[in-house]
Amino acid sequence: MYRFYDYACEGCGERFEAMVRMEDRDGVNCATCGARGRRLAPRISLSLGAYSRKTLWDAKQDANLAREQDHAFAKEQAKGEAEFFEAIGP
Ligand SMILES: [Zn+2]
Repeated sequence: MYRFYDYACEGCGERFEAMVRMEDRDGVNCATCGARGRRLAPRISLSLGAYSRKTLWDAKQDANLAREQDHAFAKEQAKGEAEFFEAIGP
């Protein structure tokens, strides 16, 4: 299953998105400089109907990952997303 993920390059700081398999999502490199991309929490851009229990679980995993990272932007994004999913329920 391929999904879009957002990254911030650890080398040049470039923000980019990539469509990769879930198991490859932590091994994406920046197209500009080749440094490793740090995966960001997903954006809330799909319609509500596209979400399922699986993506709810994913969002919580991403939120946990973001909490472990010292990355203010990802933290804020993940926090808002977790609240969003708790509000709509599984
Ligand atoms: Zn880069």
